[in-house]
Amino acid sequence: MTAIEAGTTAKDEKLATWLKVNEAHITPRWAREVRAQGHVKDRILSTQQLQRHHLLSFYDGLVEAARTGHLATLQIFLNEMVYERVQEAYNIDEILLVPQKLRITIHERVTATEPPDEALAIIGALEPLLDQSISIIVRSFTDLTEGLLNERLTEAELMAQSLHQANEEANRSLMQLRTLYNVSREFGRTVDIEQTLGLIAEHLAAAANIDRCAIWMAGESGTLVVTVAHGIAAEQLEGLTLSPDKRSFILEAFRRREHQLVEDRLDGRPLNDPLGDYFRMRSALAMPLADEGKAIGVITVDARSSAHPFDISTIDMVRSVAEQAAIAIKTTHLYDQLARLNQELERRVQQRTKELERAMRDLEELDRTKSDFISIAAHELKTPLTLIQGYTNILKDSVEPQNPKNTVVMQGITTGIERLMAIIEDMIDVSVIDTEALTLHVMPILPSRVIRSALNEFRKVMDKRKLILTVKGMDELPHIECDTQRLHQAFVNVIGNAIKYTPDDGRIDIAGQLLPAQETGSVDFVKITVTDTGIGIDPEHHERIFDKFYQVGDISLHSSGKTKFKGGGPGLGLAITKGVIEAHGGKIWVESKGYDEERCPGSTFHILLPTKAMRTLKDVRAKRAMDK
Ligand code: ADP
Repeated sequence: MTAIEAGTTAKDEKLATWLKVNEAHITPRWAREVRAQGHVKDRILSTQQLQRHHLLSFYDGLVEAARTGHLATLQIFLNEMVYERVQEAYNIDEILLVPQKLRITIHERVTATEPPDEALAIIGALEPLLDQSISIIVRSFTDLTEGLLNERLTEAELMAQSLHQANEEANRSLMQLRTLYNVSREFGRTVDIEQTLGLIAEHLAAAANIDRCAIWMAGESGTLVVTVAHGIAAEQLEGLTLSPDKRSFILEAFRRREHQLVEDRLDGRPLNDPLGDYFRMRSALAMPLADEGKAIGVITVDARSSAHPFDISTIDMVRSVAEQAAIAIKTTHLYDQLARLNQELERRVQQRTKELERAMRDLEELDRTKSDFISIAAHELKTPLTLIQGYTNILKDSVEPQNPKNTVVMQGITTGIERLMAIIEDMIDVSVIDTEALTLHVMPILPSRVIRSALNEFRKVMDKRKLILTVKGMDELPHIECDTQRLHQAFVNVIGNAIKYTPDDGRIDIAGQLLPAQETGSVDFVKITVTDTGIGIDPEHHERIFDKFYQVGDISLHSSGKTKFKGGGPGLGLAITKGVIEAHGGKIWVESKGYDEERCPGSTFHILLPTKAMRTLKDVRAKRAMDK
């Protein structure tokens, strides 16, 4: 508050006395007037309180001024009053109400108590005093409000400044957050270590307050090498190495696994570091990259010293990036290991595949040799056997039929030859199927006829072995295109097996069913099943029994014979049957719960045949390959 120079006024002892004499009348009334119209604060005070609240001191000051002619005391009291009221947010009118109401109250009192000329004299002496009081109040108010205004202005300026600072800080934090976000987003995108490190350096170099970033990775010997560098003059750092015996802040961060902050200023202590030249006039931060407590490298960021030195939030941001980077590097390493393991596995699989392919080729070669041998042997055996058969027939005619011994011998020779001939025929059939040279002579025929002709071969033996036969659903089946002889051969094999592997008094059920094209998804098929109550087949043999020469169990235990119980043959029947069925474009498979000679779980052979057949096995295979 500016000091107001205290003025003087005319001394008036009479006025001073009159004021003093009338004080007890004037001041309470004055207080009441002020309270009636004044500021809200005045209104809540009692008359006495309001009087004590500056009015009495104002009145005293007035009396003093009239008595002495000096305004100093009045001025002090008035300044005080104005100061307090300004603090309490009174406006100037509300303050000026105080002298105005005083003037009115005195006027009323004077006119009421004094004769007119006396009253006029008192008023004439009082008026300049009151005017001066008003001037003091107005000046004081102006000074005070000006001071306050200035104070407020300074406060506002300070607030604007700190707002600006806060804003800058918020922006910096935002950029740091963005850097963190960008870096963490990149980590998920690549598993390439070089690329990951490159992205980290790039984002950090672009962060607020940072000019440049380098990533130093530790080698076997503990030497740190700059793997990537980004930012202003980054090329200076590229490829730099730091051997572990040096005393550098970067190695310090690496060894102690704590960040190191250094500054190099021309006016301060220059940076004492072997890499000092690279960080001349710069603030630099070295942040260790640690994976589970083991340092694997260091991230350095630096900026010109004239810029802001690195603050806590920047250090925290770089630390967060370093922590994430260490995890990303670890993940990438793991991924690398996995990829290498995969490559190794793939190499081994390829090697195994090659070995298997070679074994397969060898097996195929062996199979071909076997087929060739069967074919040659069968043909070579057939010629002399035909000769033997011819001579036997001649011999049969020339031996004495009356001698029963001769008839038995001749019959034995003929049965043996027929059996041998049948085996040789089977061998030839198998080799024809093997070379895919089976040719079908197809014509339409009812399946029931084929089954009947096959069954005819076994009527006697079935009676003998007391086997019950049922045939169902055959008559409803439509014509099928097939090679009648070949199909007869196939069903003879299947029915013959059912008889062979079913003990006496067992059952054989044959059933037919039409599978229309809608169900099969291709053409109409007939399905014929041959079910027996025989010894059954172990599931592990279900596929292999269709291989040539494959027999279940110990072959030496097989009794031979075409229809005898368990009278095993050479293991060619089902191979030929499969070849014939497939040559027709059909399918054969077996179902059986298992092998059990005691409980005889039985077997069911399923045979599918298309109503329209294909010509050769080759055609069928070619079509299948094309369908694939
Ligand atoms: P085989 O001429 O020896 O009978 P197959 O090729 O006809 O040869 O049959 C192969 C093997 O399948 C037989 O040795 C036999 O063990 C088994 N097998 C075939 N049909 C039946 C069946 N209905 N019940 C039990 N086993 C069977």
